[in-house]
Amino acid sequence: MEKHLFERADFLYNLFDAIPSLIFIVDEDVRVHHLNISASELIGLTGAEDFLNVRGGELLKCINSFDVPEGCGRSPKCRGCVIRNSVTRAFSGEKVYREATKFRFLKNNVEIEVHLMITVNPVIFEHRKYVLLVLEDITEQKRMEERLRQANQMLARQAVTDQLTGIYNRVKFDDVIDMEMSRSIRLDSPLSIIIFDIDNFKQINDTYGHHFGDRVIKIIADTVKALLRKHDYFIRWGGEEFLMLLPHTDASNAAKLADRLRARIEQCRIENNVDAVVTCSFGVASLRQAEDAESLMRRADDLLYKAKNSGRNRIEASL
Ligand code: GH3
Ligand code: MG
Ligand code: MG
Repeated sequence: MEKHLFERADFLYNLFDAIPSLIFIVDEDVRVHHLNISASELIGLTGAEDFLNVRGGELLKCINSFDVPEGCGRSPKCRGCVIRNSVTRAFSGEKVYREATKFRFLKNNVEIEVHLMITVNPVIFEHRKYVLLVLEDITEQKRMEERLRQANQMLARQAVTDQLTGIYNRVKFDDVIDMEMSRSIRLDSPLSIIIFDIDNFKQINDTYGHHFGDRVIKIIADTVKALLRKHDYFIRWGGEEFLMLLPHTDASNAAKLADRLRARIEQCRIENNVDAVVTCSFGVASLRQAEDAESLMRRADDLLYKAKNSGRNRIEASL
C-alpha cells in the first residue's frame, strides 16, 4: 500500500517536472511542500541538495531573495504579497484564481523583468489541504501584446493623418462630426466651420512646378496650425482645400479667425528666390438649430464659392 502511494506521488512529481510552468505546492503559510524543476530553476536552485532544502521553507523567503523589493511586504506592489494574497484566497475557498503580475529578478547580477501569470487552486494532497500555485512565464506574450498595441496606435494615427501636411484628413472629420454636433446641441455651445481653398493654385503649379505647389500646401498648413486652439480640428479636405471645425466658436469669432488666417497666409513668403504671393479664400458658417452636417457644409462651401467669385483673398461668412 505504502509502495503504491509512493509510486503515485513519484509519478505525479515526474509529471510536474515535465511541465514548463513553475509549479509549487504550498501550505497555508506559503511553505513549500513541493516544487517542480522549472520552479527551482527560476529560483536559482541547481543541486539536488538545494532543491530538498527549499522544501518546507517559506516560499516567500526564496522569492524575496531574488525579487527586487518594491514595498514593505504588505503593499499591493510587493510581489511576495501578491503571491501570499493569492494563496490566502485559494485557502478561503476561491477556486482557480488567476492574476498577471510583473516581477523583477536579479539573476546572475543582471536585473530581468518577467511577467508571470499566477494561478492558484486549492487541492487535497496526501490528505492535507494545500494550494497548487502555478506561475507561467508570459513575458513574450506581453511583449507581443505591447508591440501590437503600439502598431495599432500607429495605424490608427496614420488612418486619420494627411501625409503631406501631417494634419488630419477627411476620415477624422467623419469620426468626430456627429460627436461634436451632439455636444454643441447638448451644451448649447456654438460650433462653426471654416472652409478655405488656395487661390489660383493651378497657376502656381503651372508656373513653379508641382513640387513647389506641395511646399505651398505644407507651409500654409503649418501657418494655420500655429494659430489654432487645442480643441480645433484642422483637416486637409482634399487637394488645396482645407476645413476647420471649431467647437465653442460662434460665426462672428470664426469669421475673425478666418480673416486673421487670410492675412497671415498672404504675408507668407514661400521661397526667397521666388516672388510668389499665395492667398486663400474662405467660407465661414455656424451650425443652426436642427441643421444636419450636410447642410452646414453646403452653406460653408457656397460662401467659399462666393468669396472666389467676389475676387478671392477674402472671407464670406453667414453671421
Ligand atoms: P481657384 O482660385 O478657383 O481655387 O483656382 P485653382 O487654380 O486653385 O483651382 P483649380 O481647381 O482649377 O485647381 C486646383 C489645382 O490644385 C489643380 C491640381 O492639380 C492642384 N492640386 C491638387 N492637389 C495638389 C497637391 O497635392 N499638390 C499640388 N502640387 N497640386 C495639387
Ligand atoms: Mg483653389
Ligand atoms: Mg479647390
